[in-house]
Amino acid sequence: MPERVVIIGSGPAGWTAAIYASRANLEPLLFEGDPESEKNRQQGTAPLGQLNLTTEVENFPSWPTGDTRAYLASALSADRQPYWVQANKPQPTHGINGPELMELMRQQALQFGTRVISKDIVKVDFSRRPFRLTAHDGSVTESHTVILAMGARANYLGLPSEDRFKNRGVSACAVCDGALPRFRNKPLVVVGGGDSAVEEATYLTKFASKVIMVLRRDVFRASKIMTQRAQSNPKIEIRFHRVVDEVLGNDQDGVTGVRLKSTQDGAKETVEAVGLFLAIGHTPNTDFLGGQVELTDGGYIKWTTPQRTYTSVEGVFAAGDVGDDYYRQAVTAAGSGCMAALDAERWLAAKGIH
Ligand code: NAP
Repeated sequence: MPERVVIIGSGPAGWTAAIYASRANLEPLLFEGDPESEKNRQQGTAPLGQLNLTTEVENFPSWPTGDTRAYLASALSADRQPYWVQANKPQPTHGINGPELMELMRQQALQFGTRVISKDIVKVDFSRRPFRLTAHDGSVTESHTVILAMGARANYLGLPSEDRFKNRGVSACAVCDGALPRFRNKPLVVVGGGDSAVEEATYLTKFASKVIMVLRRDVFRASKIMTQRAQSNPKIEIRFHRVVDEVLGNDQDGVTGVRLKSTQDGAKETVEAVGLFLAIGHTPNTDFLGGQVELTDGGYIKWTTPQRTYTSVEGVFAAGDVGDDYYRQAVTAAGSGCMAALDAERWLAAKGIH
């Protein structure tokens, strides 16, 4: 029997779609991604999405500052609780962290009957109905509707030297790698001027001797509050009008410095640093769709009807960052996940599929 709703992706959009589809008795099947995949780890596409790679979440409604220990301890099974609850350590932040929020969303979807499969979908066939989805182990699932909620992944600069030192000083995830011993009490470079860059730089100041933020223009793209956070942090140094020309290092030590180039006069300078963290935007995870769904120029899934999550394929819906290059917030992703589930439910009802 084909599924009625399959959801691909396990960020806020995917889990919210799952919660709504479960509560509509559609028994959704959600592919959360392969947790064992090295590729997923390296490019930041592992289960639970980008929020699982962040720290504090201060802008998701319903999570004011406070002690969440008792709630997390009672809401999550022991094997999925944050380390600090398990180890009875002090709460690291007051409110909620990205990984904790994602575990809670997952748990809520499970409680309403969502079935979760920890595999990557690597191929789709939307040319026939029901649709066919192939997972990385070759298993095939058929479904009448599909909700695409794969999110987006961090970009790299594309320099050969950056590639050479990936995992040896070059990273696009401060939260994943920042606490490594190699970065302790040494200078680090963060590239980018958006909210992510500020978040990463601020986080890295916990470990680094100083963090040099490199921006290609002389303005931050980040929100005012985040910009102020960077400007007022004594451990953050800001270099405007510069891009990375080359990552410097050797096989033994990994990254030892970064050569910067002025965007105004091309002048080059070398800064000493043992790490280079990229926070320069994102690429939507749409590669495996094989051109079967219409995309925007930037590769995001095109929503074909205003205020709906419809895509160019009838019965295929998109939610969250995979279609949103503008708002890109956890709460907007969750909102569009809800919309996609309602759209799928109504589409199935209109087709008489029960
Ligand atoms: P973003 O807002 O698109 O910022 C990307 C930054 O990288 C910009 O400063 C951009 O410079 C720079 N950049 C892009 N390509 C570059 C290149 N090749 N070389 C050098 N610099 C380059 O991306 P983001 O910071 O990842 O944020 C994405 C979304 O998530 C935003 O909507 C943001 O508000 C949200 N977010 C929110 C929070 C929070 O509220 N706490 C935290 C993280 C993210 P230009 O400005 O010159 O283009």
